[in-house]
Amino acid sequence: MSESAITTIVTGLRHSFIQGVTRPEKWRRRQLQQLRRMLIECEADLEQALYDDLRKAPLEAQLTEIGFLVGEVDDALAQLSKWMRPRRVATPLALQPATAKVVREPLGVALIIAPWNYPLMLALSPLIGALSAGNAAVVKPSELAPATSRALALLLPEYLDRRAVTVIEGGVPETTELLHQRFDHIFYTGGGRVARIVSAAAAEQLTPVTLELGGKSPVYIDGTVNLAEAAKRIAWAKFMNAGQTCVAPDYVLGTPEVLARLAPQLAHAVHELDGSAVQRNPDYGRIINDSQFSRLVSYLDDGEIVTGGSHDAATRYIAPTVLARVHRDAAVMREEIFGPILPLIEVQDLDDALSFVTGRDKPLAAYIFSDAHTTKQRWQNETSSGALTFGAPVLHLSVPGLPFGGVGASGQGAYHGERSFLTFSHEKAVLSKPLQPDTLAATIMPPFTKTKEKIVRGVLGRLR
Ligand code: NAD
Repeated sequence: MSESAITTIVTGLRHSFIQGVTRPEKWRRRQLQQLRRMLIECEADLEQALYDDLRKAPLEAQLTEIGFLVGEVDDALAQLSKWMRPRRVATPLALQPATAKVVREPLGVALIIAPWNYPLMLALSPLIGALSAGNAAVVKPSELAPATSRALALLLPEYLDRRAVTVIEGGVPETTELLHQRFDHIFYTGGGRVARIVSAAAAEQLTPVTLELGGKSPVYIDGTVNLAEAAKRIAWAKFMNAGQTCVAPDYVLGTPEVLARLAPQLAHAVHELDGSAVQRNPDYGRIINDSQFSRLVSYLDDGEIVTGGSHDAATRYIAPTVLARVHRDAAVMREEIFGPILPLIEVQDLDDALSFVTGRDKPLAAYIFSDAHTTKQRWQNETSSGALTFGAPVLHLSVPGLPFGGVGASGQGAYHGERSFLTFSHEKAVLSKPLQPDTLAATIMPPFTKTKEKIVRGVLGRLR
């Protein structure tokens, strides 16, 4: 798409926004209802697109993408009136009579840049926030998930108001051109390298950004929990979508003794979840492209293989793999793995584990398996991460009341539920004071008199 075509589209969206098309609650509800209809009526097409891009099993597509989005739409429809309502705040005595309130107004035209790993959910979940908050939006799906990108480009205009929502497909050239446009908010999900490009472009126009990034989310496990049960949850969270999940457990920290007992339990859990012939299991996904496949295969020599290790370049299959005795500085520990390889890293004790995590980039999530109260408290108080769960990796995502986002290198800003609405809103301060009685002339305006001084000092004294 040419530069001028992109400019024309964004100008059109801005015009619709300025005309007030997107502001009424009725319009917002209609868009959300239409989005819901699309997800349900086109379920089969969307499942097929996700299968084509990632060989995603239909049930997994329901759980993590389509059904997840329907739930988010329903939550937004149920809460919308409440979210839109202005909030009264108290006015100081000295200003009375007056009223003050916070009005949540839409920002304008939003740009949503989505990645390939949950290509439907991560394009539409921010859109639910943008539309709920009364914005126009451009959705830029990932070119690395072409089937889902195509489905979005075909379906969204069929269901949503074309005056206010556009899908622009493409890769680096199109995104670069989009970043030259003026937006009122940019919502980017993806890796840190591109996030820096997006941030720099946004800074040129002082456009606020939300950055939903990734990183190495640790698991810490000690001997106080049932290792078989913990292993099952860790394996499920890690190997879903073939490990290509931003909040997937990246590695496991534990003492040598705990890890030696955990390793066979992880192997058993993989067997239970994915069967003995994983390669033939239709529910197990594939790696997105050849370059990611080669990068991941290169990690397989970084430790002792507990389970998995097999791979097939032709179909980009990598078995769910657990690696033991991985060195802290191994290549697999230098960047986010984003694939089905789980290194086990030995630590001496809890202090060692805590300093391992705090010495690195703040992760998107940290997953603790311990029944010891002080251990849990120490993780909560002494480490920083986008989210922290005890015994429930990945599941924080499904609680609409919990803000979802990173901190530091794992991102900035958050969304889901009301937080999505706020991300795409400006909280405008509105103060209203009648001209009569003219309390200002009688108190704080010059000329200053003895009486005014007494009043002001009296009021200040009372306030102190
Ligand atoms: P990606 O390659 O699909 O890129 C994301 C988007 O950036 C795409 O739309 C792409 O077209 C665009 N892009 C790529 N290069 C660009 C450039 N030079 N200029 C402008 N735009 C460009 O996704 P990815 O980065 O491979 O995604 C994987 C990363 O995303 C992982 O680090 C993962 O943890 C993170 N992630 C985070 C979340 C989250 O919610 N926090 C969710 C999913 C993925």
